[in-house]
Amino acid sequence: MATRASTRRDVAIVGGGVAGLRAADELVAAGCGVVVVEKSRGVGGRMATRRLGDAVLDHGAQFFTVRGDSFGGIVSAAVEAGRVARWTSGFAQAESINAEVVPADDGHPRYRGAGGMTDLPKFLLERLGARGVALRTGARVTAIALDGESVRLEIDGAEAIRFAGCVVTAPVPQALDLFAAGGLPAPGLIDGDARRRLAAVAYDPCFALMLVLDRPSRVPPPGGIQCASGPISWLADNHLKGISPVPALTVHASGAFSRERFDDAPDAVSRTLRDLAAPWIGDAAIVEQSLQRWKFATPTTVLEAPYVAVANRPPLVCCGDAFAGPKVEGAAASGLAAGRWLAETLHNA
Ligand SMILES: Cc1cc2nc3c(=O)[nH]c(=O)nc-3n(C[C@H](O)[C@H](O)[C@H](O)COP(=O)(O)OP(=O)(O)OC[C@H]3O[C@@H](n4cnc5c(N)ncnc54)[C@H](O)[C@@H]3O)c2cc1C
Repeated sequence: MATRASTRRDVAIVGGGVAGLRAADELVAAGCGVVVVEKSRGVGGRMATRRLGDAVLDHGAQFFTVRGDSFGGIVSAAVEAGRVARWTSGFAQAESINAEVVPADDGHPRYRGAGGMTDLPKFLLERLGARGVALRTGARVTAIALDGESVRLEIDGAEAIRFAGCVVTAPVPQALDLFAAGGLPAPGLIDGDARRRLAAVAYDPCFALMLVLDRPSRVPPPGGIQCASGPISWLADNHLKGISPVPALTVHASGAFSRERFDDAPDAVSRTLRDLAAPWIGDAAIVEQSLQRWKFATPTTVLEAPYVAVANRPPLVCCGDAFAGPKVEGAAASGLAAGRWLAETLHNA
């Protein structure tokens, strides 16, 4: 494939999840031309909402919290725009899915997208679009290489593009595969330590079973049950949550269960999870169902650094929820820090 060149200030972000979109914010503010390259049809990554029949279900992240001012500012703007809403300040707690459920409220807000979790990334994208950030969806990066003063992205079925710098937000094992496909590690690595640190990052997988019901479930308000142990870690009623017009459950399997059953037939996994959730389904009939298998759901190791610079010249940096702090807010903070590093490195080059 031919290679298309970009200018000295054009940068790429691999991944349109919350980390990538926050990195884009920082880079466009620094005057860079920014292209977000995303393999899926839309933005959001693990902040994922889908329709199933008449239902709307969140099947990745279920809610987010706010601790820092930077993310707090974004969330306030999204709340004001009607794109994010406060869900609750505590979920029902249970030792395991069939144990006694105890209501809990610690006063700390948990937020949801107004129409589902993808509403926050969509809101971020709209603001970026207005500032000239370009988005390429359905574009799977297959290799990332250092090419003189440029970072070269190979994109499935399209011509390769060279950029002045690149932020990579794919889960770290996938990012390392992209580097390996592009011939990294190479002399361009700023220190051999970067690869060792990145190689230490691991994630738990997660099965998400989505069930559309013909009548209300037995899940108590506000619509979420957190389990301390057992095969099910979380169960949510998307109707009580306020995003689905009809009753629909999201059932998350624990990391241990998902790892153990990862390669099992989807039907068998769905049956097991459905049987375990039966007390909460009650008399309702299942109208439709779907199973999502997240291979890299949540990091089990989180690096202390907010990002890891893989190369300095040209600048290439990894970030996401495995850096600085897990979950949605951690990913946002990591993306912001990586974007800032890239902008400063380009500025000083
Ligand atoms: C089941 C589940 C439950 C969760 N629950 C919660 C929760 O309740 N609260 C919370 O705060 N967090 C939760 N999380 C974690 C939260 O979703 C993540 O921390 C956060 O969304 C990560 O954002 P990110 O931008 O770092 O990564 P991602 O959202 O994974 O974004 C990376 C993006 O890169 C794209 N990409 C990957 N490879 C390529 C490639 N080769 N080419 C182009 N694009 C590529 C992906 O498609 C994706 O869009 C949950 C996650 C899962 C899976």
